[in-house]
Amino acid sequence: MPENLRVSRESIIAMGMEALHEIGSDYICSICIINGGSCCQGCKQLAPGVGCQLRNTGCTAWLCGFLKFFLYELGLLQEWIDFWDEVPGQGYREDYTPETFVVTKELRHPDIRKLGESFAADLRELTKSHLIPGFILNLREKFDRYIDLLMEPGYDPQKRGGIKQRIKIWSGIFQQFQQELREYKHMLNV
Ligand code: SF4
Ligand code: SF4
Repeated sequence: MPENLRVSRESIIAMGMEALHEIGSDYICSICIINGGSCCQGCKQLAPGVGCQLRNTGCTAWLCGFLKFFLYELGLLQEWIDFWDEVPGQGYREDYTPETFVVTKELRHPDIRKLGESFAADLRELTKSHLIPGFILNLREKFDRYIDLLMEPGYDPQKRGGIKQRIKIWSGIFQQFQQELREYKHMLNV
């Protein structure tokens, strides 16, 4: 994408939705939702059985703990944050984004749906093996907290090391995802 490109609000939402589709977020959401974790619960734009009726930039940019963790593991989280930082007017379940505005960053769309699918498969397994109610939703909140701390500028480097270690331990329970991730990184030579 060239520098200083004027884009429309609609095209940015479409770009975000496409990127979410390419990472397989729908697989992850389906497991979260059947376990009572939908982030759309109670929103007036949600049509039962149909989905969101009025998509906005704020909700498209927002990532829950699972999606933050997923992008973090793939090395794509900072790019996501930087891209959405340039989009003005994001609100809670709504936006005040102008119809057009200028951006300088692009959002890559690597097709990694298989990784999203394996992450969801691990989540499904975890709901069966960890019978504590709300286990995966607590895990989602844990990832959310840890990764927010990691991404906080100026966060204590020593504490950052501890948080990375905790994320590494928890990431170990996502066995199918980790296997796919190793193969993906091997393919990319990273
Ligand atoms: S909280 Fe995350 S995984 Fe759950 S429905 Fe929302 S975006 Fe999907
Ligand atoms: S506006 Fe946001 S929270 Fe509401 S249904 Fe749409 S995506 Fe979900």
